[in-house]
Amino acid sequence: MAHELAPLPYAKDALEPHIDALTMEIHHGRHHKAYVDNLNKAIAGTPLEALSIEALIADIPGVPENIRGPVRNNGGGHWNHTFFWNILAPGKGGTPTGELAEAINAAFGSFADFQAKFEAAGVGRFGSGWAWLVVNGGKLEVVSTANQDNPLMGKAVSGTEGKPLLGVDVWEHAYYLKYQNVRAGYLKAIWNLVDWDKVAALYAAAK
Ligand code: MN
Repeated sequence: MAHELAPLPYAKDALEPHIDALTMEIHHGRHHKAYVDNLNKAIAGTPLEALSIEALIADIPGVPENIRGPVRNNGGGHWNHTFFWNILAPGKGGTPTGELAEAINAAFGSFADFQAKFEAAGVGRFGSGWAWLVVNGGKLEVVSTANQDNPLMGKAVSGTEGKPLLGVDVWEHAYYLKYQNVRAGYLKAIWNLVDWDKVAALYAAAK
């Protein structure tokens, strides 16, 4: 069955002023759509069509070599963007509470220390990629991946591992219209949009 581009879970202007409507329209309607279309094209007529997107990206080495690159890039792109749209929400932000807050304090010192480490991971990713908060072996970690790689791909593929709790796109297409070259400003603005209730639910399910 072909993978599908789900509609955004909110209006394209709902994340204003932090992420502008035109960026959301192009990012979802063109970039994410292209990942879905190109993934479907790559796996058309192969047994991989039967796999969920999660199963597909969890076994990139098992993908036939002639389509491994396109599946890694476009499958990762599809999963990553679906996750990204859903971990953000208008009117959210603030700070985590409960067990998640305790785990963040235990792992990073404080919420502010976590934010600084996450922003540094995003700013420090040369070129295109993602910053992540993951739970790995029961512990919280901040990592980053290149291009459309994802911690679920595992260490041998992505250089990272663990279950994503938060992921932020740091490709220029995610912020350039509003923030131009100032990736750090975009990353600071993202804190106004993170849905910590969803992050906490993912943490509770993962640990
Ligand atoms: Mn993107």
